[in-house]
Amino acid sequence: METDKIDLLRRQYGEFGISDKVYAFGEEILASLRERFMRIDEVAEYNQLKVIRAMQEAGVSEACLLGTTGYGYNDLGRDTLEKVYAALFHTEDALVRPQITCGTHALALALMSNLRPGDELLSPVGKPYDTLEEVIGIRPSRGSLREYGITYRQVDLLSDGAFDYEGIRAAINDRTKLVTIQRSKGYQTRPTLSVGRIGELIRFVKGIKPDLICMVDNCYGEFVETIEPTDVGADMAVGSLIKNPGGGLAPIGGYIAGRKDCVENAAYRLTSPGLGKEVGASLGILSAFYEGLFLAPTVTASALKGAIFAANIYEKLGFPVIPNGTEERHDIIQAVTFGSPEGVIEFCRGIQAAASVDSFVTPEPWDMPGYDAQVIMAAGAFVSGSSIELSADGPIKPPYAVYFQGGLTFPHAKLGILKTLQNLADKKIVYIE
Ligand SMILES: *Cc1c(COP(=O)(O)O)cnc(C)c1O
Repeated sequence: METDKIDLLRRQYGEFGISDKVYAFGEEILASLRERFMRIDEVAEYNQLKVIRAMQEAGVSEACLLGTTGYGYNDLGRDTLEKVYAALFHTEDALVRPQITCGTHALALALMSNLRPGDELLSPVGKPYDTLEEVIGIRPSRGSLREYGITYRQVDLLSDGAFDYEGIRAAINDRTKLVTIQRSKGYQTRPTLSVGRIGELIRFVKGIKPDLICMVDNCYGEFVETIEPTDVGADMAVGSLIKNPGGGLAPIGGYIAGRKDCVENAAYRLTSPGLGKEVGASLGILSAFYEGLFLAPTVTASALKGAIFAANIYEKLGFPVIPNGTEERHDIIQAVTFGSPEGVIEFCRGIQAAASVDSFVTPEPWDMPGYDAQVIMAAGAFVSGSSIELSADGPIKPPYAVYFQGGLTFPHAKLGILKTLQNLADKKIVYIE
Protein backbone atom coordinates (compact mmCIF):
# COMPACT_ATOMS: atom_id res chain seq x y z
CA MET A 1 0.00 0.00 0.00
CA GLU A 2 1.12 3.56 -0.60
CA THR A 3 2.47 5.45 2.39
CA ASP A 4 -0.46 7.82 2.74
CA LYS A 5 -2.91 4.92 2.65
CA ILE A 6 -0.94 3.12 5.33
CA ASP A 7 -1.06 6.25 7.46
CA LEU A 8 -4.79 6.46 6.96
CA LEU A 9 -5.22 2.86 8.00
CA ARG A 10 -3.02 3.30 11.05
CA ARG A 11 -5.05 6.32 12.06
CA GLN A 12 -8.23 4.31 11.62
CA TYR A 13 -6.88 1.66 14.01
CA GLY A 14 -5.97 4.53 16.32
CA GLU A 15 -9.69 5.35 16.51
CA PHE A 16 -10.09 1.96 18.19
CA GLY A 17 -7.32 2.67 20.68
CA ILE A 18 -4.69 0.58 18.86
CA SER A 19 -1.24 2.10 19.41
CA ASP A 20 1.33 2.43 16.63
CA LYS A 21 3.46 -0.17 18.38
CA VAL A 22 0.71 -2.77 18.51
CA TYR A 23 -0.24 -2.02 14.92
CA ALA A 24 3.36 -2.38 13.75
CA PHE A 25 3.75 -5.64 15.64
CA GLY A 26 0.65 -7.00 13.93
CA GLU A 27 1.90 -5.91 10.50
CA GLU A 28 5.22 -7.63 11.06
CA ILE A 29 3.45 -10.90 11.90
CA LEU A 30 1.09 -10.52 8.95
CA ALA A 31 3.97 -9.99 6.55
CA SER A 32 5.27 -13.43 7.51
CA LEU A 33 1.90 -15.05 6.77
CA ARG A 34 1.31 -13.91 3.19
CA GLU A 35 2.12 -17.23 1.58
CA ARG A 36 0.08 -19.16 4.12
CA PHE A 37 -2.91 -16.93 3.51
CA MET A 38 -2.56 -17.49 -0.23
CA ARG A 39 -2.91 -21.23 0.27
CA ILE A 40 -6.03 -20.67 2.38
CA ASP A 41 -7.46 -18.51 -0.41
CA GLU A 42 -6.81 -21.33 -2.85
CA VAL A 43 -8.81 -23.77 -0.72
CA ALA A 44 -11.59 -21.17 -0.45
CA GLU A 45 -11.56 -20.71 -4.21
CA TYR A 46 -11.85 -24.46 -4.76
CA ASN A 47 -14.68 -24.75 -2.26
CA GLN A 48 -16.45 -21.71 -3.67
CA LEU A 49 -16.56 -23.42 -7.05
CA LYS A 50 -17.73 -26.62 -5.40
CA VAL A 51 -20.66 -24.78 -3.78
CA ILE A 52 -21.65 -22.99 -6.99
CA ARG A 53 -21.45 -26.24 -8.94
CA ALA A 54 -23.65 -28.02 -6.37
CA MET A 55 -26.23 -25.23 -6.61
CA GLN A 56 -26.19 -25.39 -10.40
CA GLU A 57 -26.52 -29.17 -10.46
CA ALA A 58 -29.46 -29.05 -8.07
CA GLY A 59 -31.15 -26.46 -10.27
CA VAL A 60 -31.48 -23.71 -7.68
CA SER A 61 -33.95 -21.11 -8.93
CA GLU A 62 -35.37 -17.86 -7.61
CA ALA A 63 -38.45 -19.77 -6.49
CA CYS A 64 -36.24 -21.82 -4.14
CA LEU A 65 -35.59 -18.73 -2.04
CA LEU A 66 -39.23 -18.48 -1.05
CA GLY A 67 -40.70 -20.44 1.82
CA THR A 68 -43.72 -22.47 2.77
CA THR A 69 -45.94 -22.42 5.85
CA GLY A 70 -48.07 -25.01 7.63
CA TYR A 71 -47.12 -28.59 6.82
CA GLY A 72 -44.64 -27.50 4.21
CA TYR A 73 -45.59 -30.13 1.65
CA ASN A 74 -43.72 -29.76 -1.64
CA ASP A 75 -41.38 -27.11 -0.31
CA LEU A 76 -39.26 -26.65 -3.44
CA GLY A 77 -36.58 -24.54 -1.74
CA ARG A 78 -36.15 -26.93 1.16
CA ASP A 79 -35.99 -30.03 -1.02
CA THR A 80 -33.59 -28.37 -3.46
CA LEU A 81 -31.32 -27.15 -0.65
CA GLU A 82 -31.11 -30.72 0.61
CA LYS A 83 -30.06 -31.75 -2.90
CA VAL A 84 -27.39 -29.05 -2.83
CA TYR A 85 -25.99 -30.38 0.45
CA ALA A 86 -26.08 -33.94 -0.87
CA ALA A 87 -24.20 -32.83 -4.01
CA LEU A 88 -21.66 -30.91 -1.96
CA PHE A 89 -20.97 -33.75 0.45
CA HIS A 90 -21.22 -36.37 -2.30
CA THR A 91 -23.90 -38.25 -0.38
CA GLU A 92 -27.15 -39.92 -1.36
CA ASP A 93 -29.27 -37.57 0.68
CA ALA A 94 -29.28 -34.76 3.25
CA LEU A 95 -31.52 -33.26 5.90
CA VAL A 96 -31.03 -29.47 6.29
CA ARG A 97 -33.64 -27.87 8.48
CA PRO A 98 -34.39 -24.86 10.66
CA GLN A 99 -36.24 -27.34 12.90
CA ILE A 100 -32.83 -28.78 13.83
CA THR A 101 -32.11 -26.25 16.56
CA CYS A 102 -28.33 -26.53 16.92
CA GLY A 103 -25.32 -28.80 16.43
CA THR A 104 -26.04 -30.88 19.52
CA HIS A 105 -29.58 -31.47 18.29
CA ALA A 106 -28.34 -32.57 14.85
CA LEU A 107 -25.91 -35.02 16.44
CA ALA A 108 -28.50 -36.32 18.91
CA LEU A 109 -30.92 -36.80 16.03
CA ALA A 110 -28.42 -38.75 13.94
CA LEU A 111 -27.55 -40.97 16.91
CA MET A 112 -31.01 -41.56 18.34
CA SER A 113 -32.57 -42.33 14.98
CA ASN A 114 -29.92 -44.77 13.83
CA LEU A 115 -29.46 -46.72 17.05
CA ARG A 116 -31.93 -49.17 18.58
CA PRO A 117 -32.18 -50.68 22.08
CA GLY A 118 -29.40 -53.20 22.58
CA ASP A 119 -27.03 -51.45 20.17
CA GLU A 120 -23.71 -50.04 21.22
CA LEU A 121 -22.16 -46.71 20.26
CA LEU A 122 -18.37 -46.41 20.00
CA SER A 123 -16.20 -43.31 20.10
CA PRO A 124 -12.68 -44.32 19.02
CA VAL A 125 -11.32 -40.77 19.42
CA GLY A 126 -11.86 -40.20 23.13
CA LYS A 127 -14.45 -38.17 24.95
CA PRO A 128 -16.97 -36.43 22.70
CA TYR A 129 -18.05 -32.80 22.92
CA ASP A 130 -19.41 -31.79 26.34
CA THR A 131 -23.05 -31.49 25.33
CA LEU A 132 -23.03 -35.03 23.94
CA GLU A 133 -22.32 -36.47 27.37
CA GLU A 134 -25.97 -36.05 28.30
CA VAL A 135 -27.16 -37.23 24.89
CA ILE A 136 -25.22 -40.45 25.29
CA GLY A 137 -25.80 -40.76 29.03
CA ILE A 138 -22.15 -40.53 30.08
CA ARG A 139 -23.64 -37.95 32.45
CA PRO A 140 -27.08 -39.29 33.39
CA SER A 141 -29.87 -37.39 31.70
CA ARG A 142 -33.54 -37.79 30.90
CA GLY A 143 -34.06 -39.37 27.52
CA SER A 144 -30.41 -40.21 26.96
CA LEU A 145 -29.37 -43.11 24.71
CA ARG A 146 -28.53 -44.97 27.85
CA GLU A 147 -32.12 -44.72 29.14
CA TYR A 148 -33.17 -46.43 25.91
CA GLY A 149 -30.80 -49.32 26.49
CA ILE A 150 -28.08 -48.16 24.10
CA THR A 151 -24.65 -48.63 25.61
CA TYR A 152 -21.51 -46.64 24.97
CA ARG A 153 -17.85 -47.45 24.72
CA GLN A 154 -14.92 -45.13 24.28
CA VAL A 155 -11.33 -45.67 23.24
CA ASP A 156 -9.04 -42.74 23.96
CA LEU A 157 -6.36 -41.53 21.61
CA LEU A 158 -2.85 -42.54 22.56
CA SER A 159 -0.72 -39.97 24.36
CA ASP A 160 0.86 -38.85 21.08
CA GLY A 161 -2.57 -38.31 19.52
CA ALA A 162 -2.47 -41.51 17.43
CA PHE A 163 -5.42 -43.90 17.16
CA ASP A 164 -5.30 -46.83 19.57
CA TYR A 165 -5.93 -49.41 16.86
CA GLU A 166 -5.58 -52.37 19.19
CA GLY A 167 -7.94 -50.84 21.71
CA ILE A 168 -10.45 -50.06 18.96
CA ARG A 169 -10.30 -53.60 17.59
CA ALA A 170 -10.93 -54.97 21.09
CA ALA A 171 -13.86 -52.59 21.66
CA ILE A 172 -15.80 -53.55 18.54
CA ASN A 173 -18.28 -56.34 19.29
CA ASP A 174 -21.53 -57.90 18.04
CA ARG A 175 -23.57 -55.01 19.39
CA THR A 176 -21.41 -52.18 18.02
CA LYS A 177 -23.64 -50.43 15.52
CA LEU A 178 -22.43 -46.88 15.13
CA VAL A 179 -19.03 -45.22 15.40
CA THR A 180 -18.92 -41.51 16.22
CA ILE A 181 -15.86 -39.53 15.19
CA GLN A 182 -15.41 -35.93 16.23
CA ARG A 183 -13.34 -34.03 13.66
CA SER A 184 -12.61 -30.91 15.69
CA LYS A 185 -10.80 -31.05 19.00
CA GLY A 186 -13.57 -28.83 20.36
CA TYR A 187 -12.38 -27.52 23.69
CA GLN A 188 -9.91 -30.30 24.39
CA THR A 189 -6.20 -30.33 23.83
CA ARG A 190 -6.05 -33.33 21.51
CA PRO A 191 -5.21 -32.59 17.87
CA THR A 192 -8.03 -31.99 15.42
CA LEU A 193 -8.35 -34.80 12.91
CA SER A 194 -7.65 -34.18 9.25
CA VAL A 195 -10.15 -35.65 6.80
CA GLY A 196 -7.36 -37.97 5.67
CA ARG A 197 -6.92 -39.39 9.17
CA ILE A 198 -10.67 -39.77 9.56
CA GLY A 199 -10.60 -41.81 6.35
CA GLU A 200 -7.90 -44.10 7.76
CA LEU A 201 -9.93 -44.67 10.90
CA ILE A 202 -13.11 -45.42 8.95
CA ARG A 203 -11.26 -47.90 6.72
CA PHE A 204 -9.92 -49.61 9.82
CA VAL A 205 -13.23 -50.00 11.67
CA LYS A 206 -15.10 -51.06 8.52
CA GLY A 207 -12.36 -53.59 7.88
CA ILE A 208 -13.31 -55.18 11.17
CA LYS A 209 -17.08 -54.83 10.79
CA PRO A 210 -18.23 -53.64 7.36
CA ASP A 211 -21.81 -52.75 8.34
CA LEU A 212 -20.81 -50.22 11.03
CA ILE A 213 -22.37 -46.81 10.53
CA CYS A 214 -19.65 -44.15 10.72
CA MET A 215 -20.86 -40.72 11.76
CA VAL A 216 -18.59 -37.67 11.83
CA ASP A 217 -19.27 -34.66 14.05
CA ASN A 218 -18.20 -32.14 11.42
CA CYS A 219 -18.68 -28.99 13.56
CA TYR A 220 -16.10 -26.28 12.80
CA GLY A 221 -14.50 -28.40 10.09
CA GLU A 222 -16.58 -27.64 6.99
CA PHE A 223 -14.66 -26.04 4.12
CA VAL A 224 -11.34 -26.00 5.96
CA GLU A 225 -10.09 -28.63 3.51
CA THR A 226 -11.13 -29.42 -0.05
CA ILE A 227 -12.72 -32.74 0.95
CA GLU A 228 -15.23 -33.61 3.65
CA PRO A 229 -15.50 -36.77 5.78
CA THR A 230 -18.20 -38.16 3.48
CA ASP A 231 -15.54 -38.23 0.73
CA VAL A 232 -13.54 -40.75 2.75
CA GLY A 233 -16.23 -43.20 3.76
CA ALA A 234 -18.31 -41.51 6.46
CA ASP A 235 -21.95 -42.59 6.31
CA MET A 236 -23.07 -39.31 7.86
CA ALA A 237 -21.53 -35.86 8.35
CA VAL A 238 -23.36 -33.76 10.91
CA GLY A 239 -23.06 -30.10 11.81
CA SER A 240 -24.53 -26.76 12.82
CA LEU A 241 -25.60 -23.95 10.52
CA ILE A 242 -24.55 -21.29 13.00
CA LYS A 243 -21.01 -22.45 12.43
CA ASN A 244 -19.11 -22.74 9.11
CA PRO A 245 -21.76 -23.87 6.58
CA GLY A 246 -24.24 -21.14 7.54
CA GLY A 247 -21.70 -18.52 6.46
CA GLY A 248 -22.85 -16.24 9.28
CA LEU A 249 -26.22 -15.66 7.63
CA ALA A 250 -28.17 -18.73 8.74
CA PRO A 251 -29.98 -17.69 11.94
CA ILE A 252 -30.57 -21.30 13.10
CA GLY A 253 -30.32 -24.84 11.81
CA GLY A 254 -28.41 -28.06 11.46
CA TYR A 255 -27.65 -30.62 8.78
CA ILE A 256 -27.10 -34.33 8.34
CA ALA A 257 -25.63 -35.39 4.98
CA GLY A 258 -25.26 -39.08 4.33
CA ARG A 259 -26.51 -42.44 3.23
CA LYS A 260 -30.18 -42.49 2.23
CA ASP A 261 -31.32 -44.88 4.97
CA CYS A 262 -29.43 -42.99 7.69
CA VAL A 263 -30.90 -39.65 6.62
CA GLU A 264 -34.35 -41.16 6.37
CA ASN A 265 -34.07 -42.54 9.89
CA ALA A 266 -33.15 -39.05 11.08
CA ALA A 267 -36.05 -37.45 9.19
CA TYR A 268 -38.51 -39.94 10.69
CA ARG A 269 -37.22 -39.04 14.11
CA LEU A 270 -37.20 -35.27 13.53
CA THR A 271 -40.77 -35.17 12.29
CA SER A 272 -42.61 -38.46 12.59
CA PRO A 273 -42.54 -42.03 11.33
CA GLY A 274 -44.33 -41.98 8.01
CA LEU A 275 -43.91 -38.26 7.47
CA GLY A 276 -40.12 -37.94 7.40
CA LYS A 277 -38.78 -35.34 4.98
CA GLU A 278 -42.19 -34.57 3.49
CA VAL A 279 -43.14 -32.06 6.18
CA GLY A 280 -41.35 -29.17 7.85
CA ALA A 281 -42.18 -25.71 6.51
CA SER A 282 -39.12 -23.61 5.79
CA LEU A 283 -40.98 -20.36 6.62
CA GLY A 284 -38.95 -17.47 5.27
CA ILE A 285 -35.53 -18.73 6.13
CA LEU A 286 -34.21 -20.35 2.97
CA SER A 287 -32.55 -17.40 1.29
CA ALA A 288 -30.29 -17.07 4.35
CA PHE A 289 -29.43 -20.78 4.14
CA TYR A 290 -28.59 -20.54 0.44
CA GLU A 291 -26.68 -17.28 0.63
CA GLY A 292 -24.91 -18.37 3.82
CA LEU A 293 -23.75 -21.58 2.16
CA PHE A 294 -22.61 -19.55 -0.84
CA LEU A 295 -20.47 -17.34 1.45
CA ALA A 296 -19.31 -20.17 3.72
CA PRO A 297 -16.02 -21.02 1.93
CA THR A 298 -14.67 -17.45 2.13
CA VAL A 299 -16.09 -16.88 5.61
CA THR A 300 -14.34 -20.04 6.81
CA ALA A 301 -11.13 -18.80 5.17
CA SER A 302 -11.43 -15.48 7.05
CA ALA A 303 -11.90 -17.30 10.35
CA LEU A 304 -8.90 -19.51 9.58
CA LYS A 305 -6.70 -16.53 8.82
CA GLY A 306 -7.77 -14.93 12.09
CA ALA A 307 -6.90 -18.09 14.01
CA ILE A 308 -3.47 -18.28 12.37
CA PHE A 309 -2.81 -14.58 12.96
CA ALA A 310 -3.66 -14.98 16.66
CA ALA A 311 -1.53 -18.12 16.96
CA ASN A 312 1.51 -16.39 15.49
CA ILE A 313 1.11 -13.25 17.58
CA TYR A 314 0.80 -15.04 20.88
CA GLU A 315 3.36 -17.67 20.06
CA LYS A 316 5.87 -14.92 19.33
CA LEU A 317 5.06 -13.40 22.71
CA GLY A 318 5.85 -16.70 24.41
CA PHE A 319 2.41 -18.13 25.18
CA PRO A 320 1.55 -21.77 24.42
CA VAL A 321 -0.84 -21.94 21.47
CA ILE A 322 -2.78 -24.91 20.05
CA PRO A 323 -2.50 -25.38 17.10
CA ASN A 324 0.92 -23.76 16.90
CA GLY A 325 1.73 -20.98 14.47
CA THR A 326 2.89 -23.17 11.62
CA GLU A 327 0.95 -26.42 11.76
CA GLU A 328 -1.70 -27.45 9.25
CA ARG A 329 -5.29 -26.50 10.22
CA HIS A 330 -8.29 -28.81 10.26
CA ASP A 331 -10.75 -26.60 12.12
CA ILE A 332 -11.14 -22.91 12.99
CA ILE A 333 -10.56 -23.03 16.76
CA GLN A 334 -7.48 -21.44 18.31
CA ALA A 335 -6.46 -21.96 21.92
CA VAL A 336 -4.04 -19.62 23.69
CA THR A 337 -2.86 -20.37 27.22
CA PHE A 338 -2.25 -17.25 29.28
CA GLY A 339 -1.57 -18.87 32.63
CA SER A 340 -3.49 -16.19 34.52
CA PRO A 341 -7.15 -15.20 34.89
CA GLU A 342 -6.32 -11.62 33.82
CA GLY A 343 -4.95 -12.84 30.51
CA VAL A 344 -8.16 -14.70 29.69
CA ILE A 345 -10.35 -11.81 30.81
CA GLU A 346 -8.45 -9.10 28.91
CA PHE A 347 -8.38 -11.22 25.76
CA CYS A 348 -12.16 -11.70 25.84
CA ARG A 349 -12.72 -8.01 26.52
CA GLY A 350 -10.60 -7.15 23.49
CA ILE A 351 -12.71 -9.37 21.23
CA GLN A 352 -15.91 -7.85 22.60
CA ALA A 353 -14.61 -4.32 22.07
CA ALA A 354 -14.08 -5.04 18.37
CA ALA A 355 -17.69 -6.12 17.77
CA SER A 356 -20.25 -4.25 15.68
CA VAL A 357 -23.01 -5.36 18.05
CA ASP A 358 -22.68 -4.89 21.84
CA SER A 359 -19.15 -3.44 21.66
CA PHE A 360 -19.89 -1.37 24.78
CA VAL A 361 -20.50 -4.47 26.92
CA THR A 362 -17.75 -5.57 29.30
CA PRO A 363 -17.64 -9.37 29.60
CA GLU A 364 -17.32 -10.70 33.16
CA PRO A 365 -16.69 -14.26 34.36
CA TRP A 366 -19.90 -15.93 35.54
CA ASP A 367 -21.15 -19.23 36.95
CA MET A 368 -22.46 -20.80 33.78
CA PRO A 369 -24.74 -23.83 34.29
CA GLY A 370 -22.99 -27.11 33.59
CA TYR A 371 -19.44 -25.87 34.17
CA ASP A 372 -17.27 -26.49 37.20
CA ALA A 373 -15.55 -23.09 37.07
CA GLN A 374 -16.54 -19.58 36.12
CA VAL A 375 -16.55 -18.90 32.40
CA ILE A 376 -16.02 -15.66 30.50
CA MET A 377 -17.42 -15.20 27.01
CA ALA A 378 -17.07 -12.54 24.36
CA ALA A 379 -19.55 -12.38 21.52
CA GLY A 380 -21.00 -9.39 19.81
CA ALA A 381 -22.84 -11.33 17.17
CA PHE A 382 -25.56 -10.66 14.61
CA VAL A 383 -26.79 -14.20 15.27
CA SER A 384 -26.92 -14.92 18.99
CA GLY A 385 -24.31 -17.45 20.06
CA SER A 386 -22.95 -17.84 16.54
CA SER A 387 -19.37 -19.01 16.77
CA ILE A 388 -18.55 -18.50 13.09
CA GLU A 389 -18.69 -14.85 14.10
CA LEU A 390 -15.72 -13.47 16.01
CA SER A 391 -15.98 -14.91 19.51
CA ALA A 392 -13.88 -16.10 22.43
CA ASP A 393 -14.40 -17.84 25.71
CA GLY A 394 -12.46 -19.43 28.49
CA PRO A 395 -12.97 -21.08 31.86
CA ILE A 396 -11.39 -19.23 34.76
CA LYS A 397 -9.27 -22.15 35.91
CA PRO A 398 -5.75 -23.44 35.25
CA PRO A 399 -4.14 -23.45 32.76
CA TYR A 400 -6.17 -20.30 31.96
CA ALA A 401 -6.61 -20.91 28.28
CA VAL A 402 -8.85 -18.93 25.99
CA TYR A 403 -10.58 -20.42 22.95
CA PHE A 404 -10.94 -18.13 20.04
CA GLN A 405 -12.83 -18.66 16.79
CA GLY A 406 -14.67 -17.09 13.92
CA GLY A 407 -14.64 -13.82 12.09
CA LEU A 408 -16.94 -13.26 9.13
CA THR A 409 -14.25 -11.13 7.50
CA PHE A 410 -10.50 -11.10 8.09
CA PRO A 411 -10.37 -7.33 8.75
CA HIS A 412 -12.77 -7.87 11.64
CA ALA A 413 -10.75 -10.78 13.02
CA LYS A 414 -7.60 -8.68 12.70
CA LEU A 415 -9.17 -5.77 14.59
CA GLY A 416 -10.33 -8.13 17.33
CA ILE A 417 -6.91 -9.69 17.75
CA LEU A 418 -5.15 -6.31 17.79
CA LYS A 419 -7.63 -5.18 20.45
CA THR A 420 -6.78 -8.21 22.59
CA LEU A 421 -3.11 -7.40 22.21
CA GLN A 422 -3.64 -3.75 23.09
CA ASN A 423 -5.60 -4.72 26.21
CA LEU A 424 -2.95 -7.18 27.33
CA ALA A 425 -0.19 -4.61 26.67
CA ASP A 426 -2.07 -1.89 28.60
CA LYS A 427 -2.40 -4.26 31.56
CA LYS A 428 1.30 -5.17 31.27
CA ILE A 429 0.51 -8.83 30.72
CA VAL A 430 2.50 -8.70 27.50
CA TYR A 431 5.40 -6.48 26.52
CA ILE A 432 5.88 -5.36 22.97
CA GLU A 433 9.40 -4.05 22.58
C1 LIG B 1 -20.30 -26.66 18.58
C2 LIG B 1 -20.04 -28.11 18.60
C3 LIG B 1 -21.04 -29.02 18.91
C4 LIG B 1 -22.40 -28.63 19.38
O1 LIG B 1 -23.00 -27.65 18.68
P1 LIG B 1 -24.04 -26.63 19.35
O2 LIG B 1 -24.56 -25.94 18.14
O3 LIG B 1 -23.29 -25.74 20.26
O4 LIG B 1 -25.08 -27.43 20.04
C5 LIG B 1 -20.73 -30.35 18.83
N1 LIG B 1 -19.49 -30.77 18.52
C6 LIG B 1 -18.50 -29.92 18.23
C7 LIG B 1 -17.14 -30.44 17.89
C8 LIG B 1 -18.74 -28.55 18.26
O5 LIG B 1 -17.75 -27.71 17.98
